[in-house]
Amino acid sequence: MEYKYNAIVLNKIDTGETDRVYVIYTQEAGRILARAIGVKKPNAKLAGNLEPITYCEIFLAKGKGRGNVTGAIAVENFLAIKENVEALEKVFSAFKIFSRLVTQEEKDEKIFQLLLDYLLAMEKQAGGEKIELKDNLKFDIPTLGFIFKLLQSLGYKQEVKKCAVCSAKLTSGENYFSAEFGGILCPICAKHSKNKIRITDEAVKFIRIFLDNKIENIGKIKSENKNIHNLKIIAQEAVRWIVG
Ligand SMILES: [Zn+2]
Repeated sequence: MEYKYNAIVLNKIDTGETDRVYVIYTQEAGRILARAIGVKKPNAKLAGNLEPITYCEIFLAKGKGRGNVTGAIAVENFLAIKENVEALEKVFSAFKIFSRLVTQEEKDEKIFQLLLDYLLAMEKQAGGEKIELKDNLKFDIPTLGFIFKLLQSLGYKQEVKKCAVCSAKLTSGENYFSAEFGGILCPICAKHSKNKIRITDEAVKFIRIFLDNKIENIGKIKSENKNIHNLKIIAQEAVRWIVG
């Protein structure tokens, strides 16, 4: 039987002289491994449509286990991302986190859409549209937004509106992040918690904006490097806590 999938190519793994296995995230079945035989031969046309960071229609002949790719049509190549080293680096770092968090073959259209929205937002940022942001921030903000939204979609929404322990209203000035409690701690609760990271007021605001808005709308927010750095550490800690 041949099946058609809407897929985003995450990774490619060489498995033989001419073959590869592709890690794809599909709208229809979630994460899938697809084998492409002969894809590395010089005259194989398939390879270009299966490059990582491509949105494509993939046709798989499926019996037992992995499917064999029989065809692929690129829908969106994300060329602006692929031509920008910084954007490329950020997307691959996001894919790495994505692959650590999403490991099962399980359909989830919301996550598929989130992944696609993220790539479209990065493409826009990379595509020369005039954005008055330093290059690193231009790509960091959608990437961080993607990670916090992904955690939310997977059921690990971070509490950022009130203290994650005592539910007290958060006041600005001194707050902490705790991956263990899944959100922000007020200074009183933080005293009794071992694993905590100081979080800036701006970083708290950012997470709120990430969780309440679409990725396409967060690309132009301005910030200082120190808040972005703070958010990166927090995102890293949240992911580390979940995957161990
Ligand atoms: Zn508290």
